[in-house]
Amino acid sequence: MRVLFLPLLLLAFGSAAAQETPTQRTAAAEVLARLEALQTRIDAAGLARRLTTARSATRDAVVERARELWVAELQAMSDTITRDPEIGFQEQRAVERLVGWLRAHDFEVTVGVAGLPTAFRATYRRGTPGPHLGVIVEYDALRGTVRDYHGDQHSAQGPIGLAAAVAVAEFLTQTGTPGTVTVVGTPAEEMMPPPSKTLMHERGVFAGLDIAVRSHSSTDTQRPAPGFGSCCLNIDGVKYVFSGAPAHQMMPWEGRDALSAVVRFFTNVDGIRKNIRPEARIQGIITEGGKAPNVVPDRAVADFYIRYPDEVYLAQVRQMVDDAARAAALATGTQVRIEPYGSMRDGISVGALNEVAFAYLRRYGATRVQTIPQKPQGWEETGSVSRDLPGVGFSAYTSSGGFHTYEMEADALTEIGHTGFRLDAMAMAALLHDFATDAGFRAKVREEFTTTRALFSEYLTALRSAYPVPVVR
Ligand SMILES: [Zn+2]
Repeated sequence: MRVLFLPLLLLAFGSAAAQETPTQRTAAAEVLARLEALQTRIDAAGLARRLTTARSATRDAVVERARELWVAELQAMSDTITRDPEIGFQEQRAVERLVGWLRAHDFEVTVGVAGLPTAFRATYRRGTPGPHLGVIVEYDALRGTVRDYHGDQHSAQGPIGLAAAVAVAEFLTQTGTPGTVTVVGTPAEEMMPPPSKTLMHERGVFAGLDIAVRSHSSTDTQRPAPGFGSCCLNIDGVKYVFSGAPAHQMMPWEGRDALSAVVRFFTNVDGIRKNIRPEARIQGIITEGGKAPNVVPDRAVADFYIRYPDEVYLAQVRQMVDDAARAAALATGTQVRIEPYGSMRDGISVGALNEVAFAYLRRYGATRVQTIPQKPQGWEETGSVSRDLPGVGFSAYTSSGGFHTYEMEADALTEIGHTGFRLDAMAMAALLHDFATDAGFRAKVREEFTTTRALFSEYLTALRSAYPVPVVR
């Protein structure tokens, strides 16, 4: 999943783009002033200029090695995975290809981490104590109505990450530079439950990493603004399972109709929309509604994504939707079980990483460059990992089709995709090299990340008093 918003006009300070409503902007005013001061102190643009224009024979060699690995072997692997799509939690062949290659390049691999059969963690065998570099790769395809397909180009992420990881790992060993590299394979980005990265994070799979990098397809070369935010609003994924009693259609009074409850639930939700702030997005589908028309359905299920720009007001919206379900059950003599199965939250966006990644992409020749930063967002979609682990996404232009389209899949196999993927691998290798070798860079990333995280927590506190619930007498 990746939804790009139009670049927002960043007036006085970049972080303003994180807030989408007047209430949020008021609540965040003081926090934003301090985020601005932080950004001035960090000077990510100056840092990016210093690092990317510095003469460094070792960096150039690492980048050249990543390019060579991509051209010689990994582009072909990317094409193979693109032509062999596997949907979330079923990506066995993609994982076999990736971990086979990693094992052949001195990585110790565990497949099936966090209880997920297609999640893996691969650690460099010859690493030493020092900066721990994390490379995150995805490989799931989209569920299409005609066929499954790689319409988000996750097929290339593994090979891109492998090129950078191995190039940097070899550099550490050859030069005796302290540090190590871990590649984490995260399945099923396009589906929940469960949100696999959240689960893997809770189960310690990302423990010990100092930085996480990953790539993603893009319709232009771009990066997010610093601060905190999410690409696609904060989300609660919830199933509402209604239970009734079966009966013959001719004697329905002997039963209780769970489908009627679901229908009423949708009507109730529509009824409360006008009392909910307009930025909310509430959409549900009916996934079960009975088996046959001559039986009163004793089970019906609705599946909802409930979205709001921040998690504080989202909790109120969620309460109203839950109550709408309870009311529907009460009105129909049925029962409802509410099953929250996943959530997406604002993540932390680190300018010191984003600007360096972006500057390397431009330096190595990325095209269709969006000079204005996008809305702030974490390096991964759940928000859970990016709140605890600083990271960065690499987004070179890799397709002129839209996200989740057959055109984007086709571009993964042409010069457009191949060029963008190669540039992602090269820029990723360069940034990892700099992170491993430049203590000043690491210190800036750490300072920006920890300060932004603290300010984010203050922002949430401010929001908690910004949404009073009306008193109903
Ligand atoms: Zn995606």
